[in-house]
Amino acid sequence: MTACRLCGSGDVAPALDLGPMPIAHRMRTRKDETEKRYPFREVLCRACGLVQIAEPIDPEELYREFNYCFSGWKPQPHIADELRMILAETPGPSMLEIGSNDGLFLKEARQAGFAPVLGIEPNRVASGYARDLGLEIVNEMLDPPLAAKLAGERGRVDVIVVRQVLEHLTRIADFFRCVDALLKPGGVLFVDVPDCERGFAAGDVTMMWEEHVNSFTEMTLEATLGRFDYGVVRRERYNYSGGTIAVAAKKGALRRKDGDLGAHVANVAGYEERAKAYRARLRPLLTHARANGHAVVLYGAGNRANTLTNWADLGSLIDYAVDDQPQRHGMFLPGTGIEVKPSAALAEETRPFLCLLAVNTENDGVVTAKAMGMARRAAIVFSVLSPKDIMAELDRASAQLGLRPA
Ligand SMILES: [Zn+2]
Repeated sequence: MTACRLCGSGDVAPALDLGPMPIAHRMRTRKDETEKRYPFREVLCRACGLVQIAEPIDPEELYREFNYCFSGWKPQPHIADELRMILAETPGPSMLEIGSNDGLFLKEARQAGFAPVLGIEPNRVASGYARDLGLEIVNEMLDPPLAAKLAGERGRVDVIVVRQVLEHLTRIADFFRCVDALLKPGGVLFVDVPDCERGFAAGDVTMMWEEHVNSFTEMTLEATLGRFDYGVVRRERYNYSGGTIAVAAKKGALRRKDGDLGAHVANVAGYEERAKAYRARLRPLLTHARANGHAVVLYGAGNRANTLTNWADLGSLIDYAVDDQPQRHGMFLPGTGIEVKPSAALAEETRPFLCLLAVNTENDGVVTAKAMGMARRAAIVFSVLSPKDIMAELDRASAQLGLRPA
C-alpha cells in the first residue's frame, strides 16, 4: 500500500505490525491443524489521521466459510437511545439500513414508528432471519449501481442507518456515493463504529481484527464524514463492544472545528511501543502463575483472543480457553491450538486459576462474578481489553500472585 485509502495521501506511517496472523473466525477442528496466515500491518495516515490495514485480506477469501456473527447474539440496550437520536433529527419516517444483519435494529425501528423500513444485507443467512421478522431485505452488496436502481424504483429515504459497518469498508468513497444517491436532502445519516482512541492510548492490540480494515476515533470519524460534506449534528458514546461512537449527520450541516490531528497522530505513534511494553509484562506473569501451580485460562475465544494470543505467542502459556458460545466448544483457537471448553470447565478446575478476560467490557462484571463463583480454589481474574486500564489490571493480578511490580 502506498496511499491512504481515504484521502489518497502518501504520508502513511507504520502504526502496528502484528506479523503473519491467522483469520480469527477460522477455528481449528483439530489441535494440530495449520492454517494460512496473512500479513497484518496497521498504518496511520498522517494527513487525515485514519488508521487502516495496509494489506486487507481479499473479502472473497476473508468471508468464505464465514462463521456468522449475528446481532441477536449480543444484547444491545443502546438501540432505544440510538433511535431517540434519530427521531430528534429526522424529517420523516422512511428508513434504510445498510448492513441490516439479522434485522434486530430495523425491528425496533419499526416498533418506534419508522415506516417503510428496508434493509440491505449481503449475507444470505442473516437476511433470512430478518425476513422471518417480516422485514423487507435486499440480499445484495450495496454499490453505486444498486443505489441508483433503488433510488429510481423507490425514491429516497429520510434516514440511512449504518451500524458497525464503516470499519469494514475498503471503498469508502463508493459508500458515500451510495448514501448521496439514496438520502433525501435534509435526511439523517446515522453511523456507529467502534471507538479505538483509548485502545491506542493503552497499547491494546485486541481491538485489531482483520475484518476491521479502518480503525476510527471520534476525530477521524467526523473528519471522514466531513470529507463527503456530512456534518455531525448529534453524537453519543455507548459502552458496547468495547466502546462505540454514534453520530447523526446531515449533508451540508455546519461542521465542528476539526479535531486535534496532531494529538491523534502522537497518540497512535506511541501505540506499538505501549503494546510491546504490555506484552513484555504479560508473558512473565503467566509464566510465573504456571510455575506456581496455577491453571492459566483465557475467557473468550473470539477475534480479540485470536489477536492477543498469536501476537504475544501465548499458545504455550495458556492451559485452555472457555467461551459461552456453544458453537466454539471443542474447537481450537487458530494459530495457537488452544482448546476451547464451556465456561463450566472452570468449576472442574482443581488448581487455583489465573483467568484472562477477553470479553467485552460491558460483560466483564458478569463474567468475573461467574468465574469467581465457579472457582474451587483461589482465582485471579483480570481484563486484557481496553477501555479497562489493562496495565493496572496486570498490576493487580501481579500483586495478587505475589509478584513485585516491574
Ligand atoms: Zn488519509
